[in-house]
Amino acid sequence: MFFMMGITDGQKRFDFVQTIICNVCGGYGRYEVFMTYTVLSLFFIPVFRWGKRYYVKSTCCNTIYELDPEVGKRIARGENVQIQESDLRMCNQGRRTMYKRCQNCGFTTEENFDFCPKCGNRF
Ligand SMILES: [Zn+2]
Ligand SMILES: [Zn+2]
Repeated sequence: MFFMMGITDGQKRFDFVQTIICNVCGGYGRYEVFMTYTVLSLFFIPVFRWGKRYYVKSTCCNTIYELDPEVGKRIARGENVQIQESDLRMCNQGRRTMYKRCQNCGFTTEENFDFCPKCGNRF
């Protein structure tokens, strides 16, 4: 008798969105909530999950926050909660993607080029 055991990391996105005015980038965005966890599988059937952590991502600038687990659990249960700033701890500050657009050929880039990489026109 042998056991097929596996430990994998999982991620689940909740069906939860909250419209915000972001205090990182100042733009309009949404909070999306997701959970990461570790799963122990036996014969490819998940039998045990632990290490659940809840995170929030802002859609405007992709800033990642760690969410208070109590609030995360309520969202996981489908409760209608309002995420407060005090529930969040910033993990990774995102930035708003800035596009530069070439006046000459219309090429757009997220990089901070001085000249258009396509036609050489000065931005
Ligand atoms: Zn933002
Ligand atoms: Zn160009």
